[in-house]
Amino acid sequence: MSYLLKTFSTTRPEAEARLPKARLVEVFSSVQGEGLLVGYRQVFVRTYGCNLRCTYCDSPETLKESPMPTVCRIEWPVGTGRFETLPNPVEVEQLTQVLQRFLKMPHHSVAITGGEPLLQARFLKAWLPAVRSLRLKTFLETNGLLPEHLRQIVALLDYVSMDIKAPSATGLEPEKTWPMHRQFLEVARSTNVYTKMVITPRTTDDELDRAIDLIESVDASIPFILQPVTPFGQEPVGVSPARLLELQSRAAARLSEVRVIPQTHKLVSLL
Ligand code: SF4
Repeated sequence: MSYLLKTFSTTRPEAEARLPKARLVEVFSSVQGEGLLVGYRQVFVRTYGCNLRCTYCDSPETLKESPMPTVCRIEWPVGTGRFETLPNPVEVEQLTQVLQRFLKMPHHSVAITGGEPLLQARFLKAWLPAVRSLRLKTFLETNGLLPEHLRQIVALLDYVSMDIKAPSATGLEPEKTWPMHRQFLEVARSTNVYTKMVITPRTTDDELDRAIDLIESVDASIPFILQPVTPFGQEPVGVSPARLLELQSRAAARLSEVRVIPQTHKLVSLL
């Protein structure tokens, strides 16, 4: 990508060698389609790599089975769905320059998504102050299983969208998953955090109850989003309306903010 390669960089070579770099998949502008910030315009930064393999994953290009991307796609011009490329790994100053170009158009916040962005916490710790200095809010989408990584950057986050992973969708051992989620939510509660569980036809009452127990034990007013799975790939069948209503009622009996929100961006073919 000629523009970015030409404008970068001013850092001294020995300092550059010490700076963290990120493996990214893409940077683009779109409308948030999930969770409590649904509808806001955001700059999305999608990182490469994930520590899970969810059955409903709609970002397989971020998983380690996919080839390590040698380049990151950068949407340009903003909002057109056309892309230029930038060599990976990407440096802090390069990504800040990319972000500045996007800000010719107003955006509510930067959504850091993946993959699992916290696998690159060292990079985020170095980069997020630059996002804040551009007066943008910071929003992290995460699988909620790396509390120590979150601790490194939590002071730099405005919003956290924390997934609660039902073992029936991940194959993870429940006794390892739930304690990590609990620790994670304890750390994340200093931000505007909400929790989200993707509901598949295999989600059990017991899994929902464990999610409710978890939220209630930290703070029963933390919002809980039930996101019906969008039929795709390994999840070809959706959830019935009756089942969604049943699960919402079950959760709302104990938590104060329980909402059903599907993936809205897919309804209008947004990125
Ligand atoms: S945590 Fe997210 S990116 Fe990772 S496998 Fe699950 S859905 Fe995909």
